[in-house]
Amino acid sequence: MSALKLSRVLMCAASGALCLVLLCGCAPRGSGTPPGAASGQAAAANESADEFVTRVNGELTARAQEAQAAGFTLDVFITPDTQLLNARANDRYLAYLSKAVAEARRYDTQKLSPATARALMKLRLNVAAPAPDDARKRARLTQLEAQLEAKYGEGKYCPTGPASCKNLDQLSEILARSRNYEELTEAWKGWHGVGAGMREDYTQFVALANEGARELGFKDLGVMWRAGYDMSPEEFDTESERLWQQVKPLYDGLHCYARARLARRYGEGKVPPGKPIPAQLLGNMWAQQWNKIYPDILKPYPRASIETADTLLAAQKWDAGRMAHSAESFYTSLGFPQLPRSFWERSMLTRPRDREVVCHASAWDLATTGDVRIKACLKPTEQDLFTIYHELGHVYYFLSYANQPFLFRDGANDGFHEAIGDTVNLSVTPAYLARIGLVRAVTPSHEALINQQMKMALEKIAFLPFGRLIDQWRWRVFSGEITPGNYNSSWWELRRRYQGIAPPVPRSEADFDPGAKYHIPDNTPYTRYFLSFILQFQFHKALCAAAGNQGPLYECSNYGSREAGRRFADMLSLGASQPWQDALEKLTGTRRIDAAAISEYFQPLMQWLSEQNRGQQCGW
Ligand SMILES: [Zn+2]
Repeated sequence: MSALKLSRVLMCAASGALCLVLLCGCAPRGSGTPPGAASGQAAAANESADEFVTRVNGELTARAQEAQAAGFTLDVFITPDTQLLNARANDRYLAYLSKAVAEARRYDTQKLSPATARALMKLRLNVAAPAPDDARKRARLTQLEAQLEAKYGEGKYCPTGPASCKNLDQLSEILARSRNYEELTEAWKGWHGVGAGMREDYTQFVALANEGARELGFKDLGVMWRAGYDMSPEEFDTESERLWQQVKPLYDGLHCYARARLARRYGEGKVPPGKPIPAQLLGNMWAQQWNKIYPDILKPYPRASIETADTLLAAQKWDAGRMAHSAESFYTSLGFPQLPRSFWERSMLTRPRDREVVCHASAWDLATTGDVRIKACLKPTEQDLFTIYHELGHVYYFLSYANQPFLFRDGANDGFHEAIGDTVNLSVTPAYLARIGLVRAVTPSHEALINQQMKMALEKIAFLPFGRLIDQWRWRVFSGEITPGNYNSSWWELRRRYQGIAPPVPRSEADFDPGAKYHIPDNTPYTRYFLSFILQFQFHKALCAAAGNQGPLYECSNYGSREAGRRFADMLSLGASQPWQDALEKLTGTRRIDAAAISEYFQPLMQWLSEQNRGQQCGW
């Protein structure tokens, strides 16, 4: 998917799919755009660091506005012309950014105010792969990035000639629906074949991007990525490991149960006890979320059904506008403002009949005050209802930090942005759905509760080790600890250790399986998702406490709580202007990310799983 490198590709947890969130923003109200902003005037030799930051904030606002407008236009109207205009606008934006980063180096040795130092740090960290100064190397890096993305995007499996080709969507569909072991294995193997052709490109990419990171003063690109967390890279390593150890028991229980159920389905010969699970059996190409095998393999109580909103959404003829208004009304019930009129005029909420568009749901901040939008193709389903509630989380974050200067218009750290809408979705409980007339009001049985929790755990808990291991691999690749000669074996070593899964067929260094996951060829940092999945429960718990909720966490809905909304808004309005610990403290009263809330939320399921797993040989 083409997008600004300014953009971050994020995951829509509701759909388990990817969503793009283009984070940039609006001119700070009242500050105005400095003269020369549009042309990016060369810095005066005696420009102070504070003046430089003010100028760059203004110029980036103007540049981003152009690039975002081109990007949005492309996504809602794909033509050769809009592609060309988007590419041009992107190039101009990135060229400006490199120039600004280079200019900023003259302040490296100066004593700066905390805000200016922070702004310059944000500027340096604005790209996921900094280019070396050398023009030839810079061009080569851009070329490699484009090649890697193209190889992924065009990847196909063609077992018997061109007519037999299947793309990722089709192969993923097989992974989700088929229960035939051989067919699953073939689809898995077919898609993972696309990685091999990326190995050489990726090796060169790592060398050049590392060189760019070193020129910016970082030891390697992995160290640069970890510099965005307001602590040393070593401290961040320790923090992520601490969080992983906190959630690991949840994953272990789920893994043990899933393996036993899969063994029942495919036989212990294929799924042996005490061993990693074959990666092709979990319903997802990367085994990162397991909800696709919920209905027929992992559902705890087949006869206890959970009523979804699907039936009544269709029966009451909800359209996309009504779904979006419903999401808006949740946020306004917390005290957030109504969405600006331009949101309704400029968003794309349904698939147009007469043109090609990118339907993947995304939220946009168009760099003029209050011009926020959604691009989605909503259908009246519960899944899409969750999607729009999720996307409005990004939109209300944009609106909340709209008064910050450009370089601070971002999440407190990259885990925060994705967590906001998911936090709100944790309040979309069966009771809330009943309240807005989308399910019947019934007290769920214990069996229905366990089903409900299982369904959620297969998205939220199954994901955690995957969210952790991607950058475990990459940080070590960038540091040189993992070399091209063991790219693939180290990948599988981590997948086995964290996820407890194994490749369905033997792999070797002729393969490059990391390349079969979008975020590797696209070079999008991934730890943000791991953090987001933990943060959203921590946020939810804090909001529930602010709302005076007395019941269990999984039943809490913060709909209508002004106090919860006030605390939420206090955190969101900081944007990235302060260390994330300060933002976290505003809402939760603590400065540490903590997985206690996710454990508490899933307590009934964990209890149930420990009974189910009794006598099983868990672990791998
Ligand atoms: Zn999102």
